[in-house]
Amino acid sequence: MAEIARLPGEGCRHFDAGRCLYEEHLNPGYDARYRCLVLEHWAEAFDEFLSRAEAFRVEQDAVSGLWARQFQRLARRTLHCARHEFCAAAEAPACLHVVDGLCRLNLPACEGRCRHFRPAEPEEKA
Ligand code: SF4
Ligand code: SF4
Repeated sequence: MAEIARLPGEGCRHFDAGRCLYEEHLNPGYDARYRCLVLEHWAEAFDEFLSRAEAFRVEQDAVSGLWARQFQRLARRTLHCARHEFCAAAEAPACLHVVDGLCRLNLPACEGRCRHFRPAEPEEKA
């Protein structure tokens, strides 16, 4: 029997550059595997920084300035991701693969139109 080819997934509201955001849209933030490693690392570093600031009873007003300096050092030192591809127009961490704080490379591929296909709103279409 001949194999039926699926229509391409372009035009689906869950489609993003060949990847599928359906699961993420269903349960936003639930699947940690989709997250950008660099942003995760920065978030952990921020939590640690806040704990230390609290332990050392740093004045509330001084916290943001201290963090800004620490963050500059952190961001310069290492990106913790071998797959990072610099893109000045992209959101933090200025990576070609980041989408809403997630790593596109970690999302499942869209294999073509499936039962979850939903047309994108006119302004969502690329
Ligand atoms: S490739 Fe880019 S988006 Fe993906 S984890 Fe690395 S820095 Fe984040
Ligand atoms: S068509 Fe299906 S697999 Fe492709 S992006 Fe849409 S929901 Fe995901």
